[in-house]
Amino acid sequence: MQRVTSINELNAELDAVRERGLEIAFVPTMGALHEGHLSLINEARRHTPFVVVSIFVNPLQFGAGEDFEKYPRTIEEDTAKLEDIGVSVLFTPTVNDLYRGNMNVSESAGHIGALYEGAARPDHFDGMLTVVAKLFEAVRPKYAVFGAKDAQQVFLVKQMAAQKFPELEIVVAPTVREANGLALSSRNRYLSEADHKVAEQISAALRIGQATSSTPQAAIESARTQMAKVPEAKLDYIALVDADTFEAVTDGFTGRAILLIAAVVGETRLIDNIEITF
Ligand code: AMP
Repeated sequence: MQRVTSINELNAELDAVRERGLEIAFVPTMGALHEGHLSLINEARRHTPFVVVSIFVNPLQFGAGEDFEKYPRTIEEDTAKLEDIGVSVLFTPTVNDLYRGNMNVSESAGHIGALYEGAARPDHFDGMLTVVAKLFEAVRPKYAVFGAKDAQQVFLVKQMAAQKFPELEIVVAPTVREANGLALSSRNRYLSEADHKVAEQISAALRIGQATSSTPQAAIESARTQMAKVPEAKLDYIALVDADTFEAVTDGFTGRAILLIAAVVGETRLIDNIEITF
């Protein structure tokens, strides 16, 4: 594995790969890698053997008072995991290299970007899309792999890529969970043992919503009833959205929908979702 820390070095590495006619798959991350991230890498490898992983904690997608400073940075462990799994290039740019002194957002997440996670975290999605676009421009992959765990992110990245990177294929990999259902997340390490038990109930509520989905309203209500049993989890929202448009669905809807939950457990904001077909 080559580790490169600047766009110049990256270009030198990837130009040679492109000349050999190899397609590139790309997995952007913020590090603190877990099995969820590794599953994206395995998915990437199903498309092409040449996989680039980036680790970059993007200041532009964190709001004031969020966890940018304390976000886990575990580059040595991450590097060892990536060596083990066998990726081709690890790209760890500096803020300066990626933003070149211009920390303005260059992408807009539009009206869907202001809902749900965007309502709780203003500017988060504009900042996320800005860095993802910069990374796509730097890596110029054929495939980019994202986790279904961040459903709204997937929707917005697909929307941006369709406009700006029409040749790029966005691949979505399923959410990796602990045996108890809790979706893996770099932020789970903030949870105490008691928090962890509470957090497991988020995925339980999603499964109950999915199991009682005779109608959209029934799915939402049963998930809400389940979350009400764990008041320690401060519920932000439960929503059911059309998987293709991210617009809220109402009774009578048919097709693929996504049931979303966001809640704060202890100090940690957690999100999860499950797909339901009506
Ligand atoms: P992050 O490092 O949190 O920005 O995540 C990088 C990528 O990993 C994103 O595409 C996430 O959706 C994905 N990801 C995070 N957690 C999981 C998980 N539990 N299962 C699958 N993908 C995940």
